[in-house]
Amino acid sequence: MTYQEALETLEKCRYCLMCRHADPLSHVSFNEALTPHGIALTIYSEHKGLLSWNEDSLRTVFSETDAGVARSHCATDQPFSEAVSAVKSELLSQGKMPETVARLKERLEQTPSFFGDAEFKSALEQNDYALFISDEMQYLWPESVNAVNTLIKALTLSPAEITRGKSSGFLALSLGFMEQAKKQAKQLMTELEAVKAKELIVLSQTDLYTCRHVYAERLGLSFPEEVKVTSLLALLTQAYKNGKLSFKPSADTRPYAYIDPSQALRVKDFDSPRHLLGAILPGNQVELFWRKERTHPTGSGSTWFSNPELAEKLTRARLEDAQKQGAEVIYCEDSADLSQLNRYAADYGLELKGLYELLADHLG
Ligand code: SF4
Repeated sequence: MTYQEALETLEKCRYCLMCRHADPLSHVSFNEALTPHGIALTIYSEHKGLLSWNEDSLRTVFSETDAGVARSHCATDQPFSEAVSAVKSELLSQGKMPETVARLKERLEQTPSFFGDAEFKSALEQNDYALFISDEMQYLWPESVNAVNTLIKALTLSPAEITRGKSSGFLALSLGFMEQAKKQAKQLMTELEAVKAKELIVLSQTDLYTCRHVYAERLGLSFPEEVKVTSLLALLTQAYKNGKLSFKPSADTRPYAYIDPSQALRVKDFDSPRHLLGAILPGNQVELFWRKERTHPTGSGSTWFSNPELAEKLTRARLEDAQKQGAEVIYCEDSADLSQLNRYAADYGLELKGLYELLADHLG
């Protein structure tokens, strides 16, 4: 999306209140400037010369979560988050950014990931299946890596690992670092092409959304059409339903909740994780108020870097929601969400567990 196209969307959003009720940022901050119409009005006012950029207004724009919440509640399907991310990119190109983002710029130029810089060499041998273990899983929730390998083995697959420990590019894109995002995306696609895979297995909804949509729609790159992108959870659910995989029941009878990952609204596979959890846990599965089609993000995305205080509030709101619904244990498979939830879960009396670990521990 170009800056001009972004402005066309934001012109429609600036006086619109239709998705206001579902907005996660104002829900936790009580700040009208952080609603979609507030952010759009800030950007459009500057465009019209009614406002000049300063630390506050830049922080408002860069706080947008890029979780697709506004669009999923929009009757006219306006790509609000996508437009704001295009504006962030334009601002970065003019050297305008809040201090929090300026600090990241330097870090991103030195290392290809926000989270670590270990080198994992891919063997790049030809294989029908490729597996992408992202930097978020590698560095933020590494306990899932072994669990994922156990689950893949149980599916009798032995995929070629590609770009392990690197980013698919979504986080950089969300913050407006377009060139970095393109570089990360191209590296993933180059390795995918080298192994000649027909199917790419991804481990988070963020990476599923990124490969299926972001590369083509937001970065102008063409992801190989012949390659199917599948989530491991979808593969496991299918194998479980077909009787090719079984799970042993857990003895844990405590009420539990599944926390929909921050990009859930863009993927809309709400059932696979719940189905798999139900196959193992005998306890009562409770639901958050902000779940499925009205999922709110945790602070795991770009807001974590651009506005850490707000990110904490987003994460705490999800934990409070789970506590209110009577959950004692919460599950999620997204490494970035898990690492955020893990910071404060104990404050709400909640035990947090990785979904991949639960599944691997209960294979039949
Ligand atoms: S995304 Fe749609 S509903 Fe939300 S402010 Fe924009 S036009 Fe209105």
